[in-house]
Amino acid sequence: MALFGAHVSSAGSILNTFDRAKEIRAEVFQFFLRSPRVWRWRGVSNELVNKFSERLREFGNPVMVHAPYLLNLASANEDLRRKSINVFLEELRFCDSVGIDFYNFHPGTAKGIDEETAMRNIISSLEEIFSRYEPCRTTVLLENTAGERGDMGKSFSELARIIDRFPGLRLGLCLDTCHAFAYGYGINTPEGFDRFLREVEETVGFERVMAVHANDSKVPLGAKRDRHEHIGDGYIGLDGFRNLLKHEHFGKLPYYIETPKTDDMDVVNLNRLRELYSL
Ligand SMILES: [Zn+2]
Repeated sequence: MALFGAHVSSAGSILNTFDRAKEIRAEVFQFFLRSPRVWRWRGVSNELVNKFSERLREFGNPVMVHAPYLLNLASANEDLRRKSINVFLEELRFCDSVGIDFYNFHPGTAKGIDEETAMRNIISSLEEIFSRYEPCRTTVLLENTAGERGDMGKSFSELARIIDRFPGLRLGLCLDTCHAFAYGYGINTPEGFDRFLREVEETVGFERVMAVHANDSKVPLGAKRDRHEHIGDGYIGLDGFRNLLKHEHFGKLPYYIETPKTDDMDVVNLNRLRELYSL
C-alpha cells in the first residue's frame, strides 16, 4: 500500500516533526537533522535520542532524514569531501541508533572536474563511509537529480554504477519525480512512462527504488533545472502521478512531497495524490 506524507520542519526540536506531520495528516514524513545550509550541528542529547526513538516507534511508518545540501561526496576539494563524509557518518549513526528508516542524499556535484572523476570520488567516499559504519536499521538512499550544474546521479544507469558497487549493503534509491522529469524522463505519457520503467528495470531494478519524492515540475521535460511545483499544477501533471501510483511496484511505496509550503497546500497536495491512488 502506498503511504502519503511530506517534508516537515524540524525547527525548535526534531521532536516537533511528529506533531507537524500529524497536523497535515501525513502518514510518513521527512526532515532535516540540522539547517540544510550550515555545517554546524548542536548534536542531540541521550535524552533526546531516547524520546525520539520512542515517538518513532509509536509512529510506526517510514520516516526519512534528508542530508544537508552542503554535502558533496564527489568534490575534488579534499577538505570539503572530508567534511561531507564526516557529516554523513554523524547523521547516519544517529538515524541508525533511533531507527530512522531512510537516510536520503544527493550523490554529489562535479564542480571543476569531469564526471568520471566525480563518479570515482562518490564511490570511494561511500566505500569509506560503509567501512567506518555499517547501518543495521537505516537504509541509505541515493536521490536522482535533475542534472543541473554538474549534479551527478541524473540517470538510472549512472545511479546503478554506484549502487552495484555495494552489494548486500542497505543502499537503495529515492525517486524524485520532478528531478526525473526535468532530466528527461517523460513519466506523464504512456510511451515515456514505459521507457522510464524499462530503464529502471534494466539498471537499478525496481526493488532498489524504495521511496518517492513526489513533486511536480515548474520546468518542462528535459530542462535540467530543479524547480518543484504543486502536484498536478506543473508540467508533469496528474497523469504522471497516476502512472506511478497505479504501477505494481511504485504503487506500494511511501510518497514524500517537497512542494512549496504555501497556505494549506500540503494538505491539498496529499489529497490529490490519495485521490489518484484510490480512483
Ligand atoms: Zn527530492
